[in-house]
Amino acid sequence: MADYIYTLETRLSPDQQKAVTLVLDAAKAAGMNLYLTGGAIRDMITGFPIRDLDFAVQGNALKLQKDLERAGAVIGDADAETRSLLLTLPGGVRAEIAMARSEHYDKPGKAPQMAPATIIEDLRRRDFTVNAMALSLNEGSRGLLMDPFNGVADIEAKVLRVLHNYAFLEDPSRMIRATRFTTRFHWPLEERTQARYESGKENNYIEYIRNASIGYEIEQLAYEDDALGVLKAYEKEGWLKVLNTHWSTAKVDTAGLGALMKTRQQMNELGYTPEVAPAVLYFLTSKLGDKDVADLRRAIPRKDLVEAWKDLEDNARSLAKRLTGKEAATPSRTWQLLSSARPEMILFLAITARQQAVAQKIKSFFTKWRQVQQKIPLPEMTELRITPEMPAYPKIANDVFLLLLDGKLRSRTETLKYLKPLAPPPPPPPPPPPAKRGRAAKAAAAAVAPASVSGKAGKGKGKAAAVAATPHPAERPVATKVAPAVPPAKAAASTKAVAAAKVSDPAKTEASKKPGKPVTAARPTAKTKVKAPVKTKAKAAKTNKTKPKKKAK
Ligand code: ATP
Ligand code: MG
Repeated sequence: MADYIYTLETRLSPDQQKAVTLVLDAAKAAGMNLYLTGGAIRDMITGFPIRDLDFAVQGNALKLQKDLERAGAVIGDADAETRSLLLTLPGGVRAEIAMARSEHYDKPGKAPQMAPATIIEDLRRRDFTVNAMALSLNEGSRGLLMDPFNGVADIEAKVLRVLHNYAFLEDPSRMIRATRFTTRFHWPLEERTQARYESGKENNYIEYIRNASIGYEIEQLAYEDDALGVLKAYEKEGWLKVLNTHWSTAKVDTAGLGALMKTRQQMNELGYTPEVAPAVLYFLTSKLGDKDVADLRRAIPRKDLVEAWKDLEDNARSLAKRLTGKEAATPSRTWQLLSSARPEMILFLAITARQQAVAQKIKSFFTKWRQVQQKIPLPEMTELRITPEMPAYPKIANDVFLLLLDGKLRSRTETLKYLKPLAPPPPPPPPPPPAKRGRAAKAAAAAVAPASVSGKAGKGKGKAAAVAATPHPAERPVATKVAPAVPPAKAAASTKAVAAAKVSDPAKTEASKKPGKPVTAARPTAKTKVKAPVKTKAKAAKTNKTKPKKKAK
């Protein structure tokens, strides 16, 4: 039997894993069974990226809200009707937690009658077989995959199949979803499903679509990687005007959207993961009238998405203002400002900035300023014992980087002159080995003497000889090979890619993920680490305590 928990853990990002644990803890505390369902299970099996986490709980999901908020979740919507939550968990993980429910449709276009149900019943209300699976996360059945409609087989066959003949009639938004998934996965509809779909189109089932479903599908569009492709498919199928009567591909800023996706891709390669959904909506609706935009915003259930979309232009304007003000008077200050800005905002501004100066600063931030890192004399710093093991290392490395950035340290000599006073004192010599007494001492002395004289120390004529032949760690030559701050190949490729972008593209390595921290704190290679004096750190720390700290210039 497949080990789905293992597969899940390997397929989820660290943030998504934490999110699962967090929701599981909340569900456990409330005494509710929890299942992962929908796209997460489908994508776990197919290998497509897991975009969001859809959970089902046996119980009222709204009861988890407070616990989750305490744990850092932002609630985008709490739906009293379905007793479900749309939320963003720490690390930007999108999730939905819904009460496991059954649905019964009396009439097309009318909301179904809902009732709390078991997870298996809940799976019966779903859209396609590949989306109608659930993975138990509960003790006792953890890892059990429930697949009552043979979704795994349809994943293998790469087809989308509805669960029953009335699927599109009962909920016509499933036709829009069918178009979205066929466009995204390039999977066809299974033959009978295709026939039902055609018949649904012919008979205009779509006029029965519920407003809530319209809002939900507008929102989903924002999260598509190829939103424009999906929008075009919607237009072709006649669904776009259902989402908004005036919407068409002509209303899209295609150049802006293209630049957004390209720049996002380059940012991803450099370690940034900006959330682009608000900007996608911005470009998808750029040429729509204000009223239509307002209607779309009102329809979207996830309010944090709407707020972010609304705030895009204001935030970009204020960042642009700061970038042209005193706060960004020097490269180092601009660096610090941009390091602390949200990647989403930099991305959006990179594409929409009108002022040349702003565009140029963003470009430098992602390209040439990053290359200044190469000027940090890491081997010499290691020789000076300024290594990442030092508590003050991040600050020293950052200060050097900023001074280099501003041209205040113009040469290697100047940089070393600046660094020398910051070096920790050398470690004191090791204590002498305890003196041996009596016959043992004599024997040891006899063993050492000839070896030392003949220069064959270390070939091992006894323990004492070996000790004498091994220099104390403090006396060993310090390794000078240091890993570069950014792997050269990646840095070069990234820089090139970024330089080619319309404006400039953000780059971010591990260290600069933390706001305000440039990528300067290179860690020594494993080789360096092994060779580094073992006792230096402790001794240096001790010495630092007693000696007053020298002030950096
Ligand atoms: P993705 O999130 O990757 O776009 P998804 O399948 O998870 O794909 P969601 O919109 O997140 O899509 O919905 C989560 C799950 O809820 C679906 O997988 C499906 O099981 C169910 N679902 C959503 N909308 C409908 C619907 N209109 N009818 C039936 N089931 C639905
Ligand atoms: Mg989903």
